[in-house]
Amino acid sequence: MPALLPRPSILSIEPYVGGESKIPGVNRIVKLSSNEGAFGVPPAAQAAYATLAAELHRYPDGHATALREAIGARFGLDPARIVCGNGSDEIIQHIILAYGGEGTELVMSAHGFVMYEVSGRYAGCQVIKVPERNLTADVDAMLAAVGPRTRLMFLANPNNPTGSMLPAAEVARLRAGLREDVLLVLDSAYAEYVTRPDYDPGTALVEAGTNTVMTRTFSKVFGLGGIRLGWCYAPPHVIDILNRVRGPFNVNAPAMVAGIGALAEPGWVETSVAHNDAWRARLSDGLRAAGITVHPSEGNFILADFGTAERAKAADAALKARGLIVRMMHSYDLPQALRITIGTAEDCGMVLDALTAFMRG
Ligand SMILES: *Cc1c(COP(=O)(O)O)cnc(C)c1O
Repeated sequence: MPALLPRPSILSIEPYVGGESKIPGVNRIVKLSSNEGAFGVPPAAQAAYATLAAELHRYPDGHATALREAIGARFGLDPARIVCGNGSDEIIQHIILAYGGEGTELVMSAHGFVMYEVSGRYAGCQVIKVPERNLTADVDAMLAAVGPRTRLMFLANPNNPTGSMLPAAEVARLRAGLREDVLLVLDSAYAEYVTRPDYDPGTALVEAGTNTVMTRTFSKVFGLGGIRLGWCYAPPHVIDILNRVRGPFNVNAPAMVAGIGALAEPGWVETSVAHNDAWRARLSDGLRAAGITVHPSEGNFILADFGTAERAKAADAALKARGLIVRMMHSYDLPQALRITIGTAEDCGMVLDALTAFMRG
């Protein structure tokens, strides 16, 4: 053991394992392991990014003013209540470090997004994972898990990797049941994909109180995962705290212009969502017809359940043999399942063919 050691809670963190992107010996791969959006990078984002090459000696605008204004205009939000980050992961980490820490508890659902646990342990929080019902966050159980030391509650809505969603009324009930000194963070990374009318990404609750934050990302429908860009919408006092603790230039200049470009791309979200709706249904139905349990999903991915970890592993191998990379779910305590991103029509067809053949043995 080295003489130099970090705080004990940090040694309990399992390093984050991202979606794989390579298969040894296979040249042509289809990456369906990170929910990156089916259509690549919006052309307007690419063009804006390219124009910046000769300006890279300049520090970016530390307030991300133009980007916050573009986000505000697009989503009908006050730019003064927006903070941008190097991915929403960065914002999640700052929120937890600022409001959590040793002696506090962070509550999340059992199969909630894994970065809440990673950042929670980094901060020294006790991370409480609450059992779900039908792979869906259980509002009553989440509320029952709150104790005097609870300071943070995280809910991804829709959740990754389960795809499940809580309707606006249920999220409001969750907020109403929490003490005023518990910050509720609604992670709406997949908000754009939701077509159910009973959904709210969290905007209403942020505006209605002083203790709810909504996080969003450019990594999914907007196709910019590689550039690292996310944001949050929060009450003014939380914005003030985040502006104190974030790096002064935490969002880089190419990310800002690419993000503005992505927002301006005509029809991008509409086309992506229509495609996602159609192919999520077709792929789910096709896999169910092949005998696989597929959970309902509101995101751009599905969770396919093979019953046992061995079967899921074999299914993963069958997909890999055809160059298809999906996500194993061990880190989410769902080793019997695979998460599959909705790709292009061709990608979905290949997944369906491969898994149908696998199920036929
Ligand atoms: C993908 C994802 C994020 C996005 O993180 P970025 O850091 O913005 O790329 C956040 N939360 C959930 C639930 C996700 O699935």
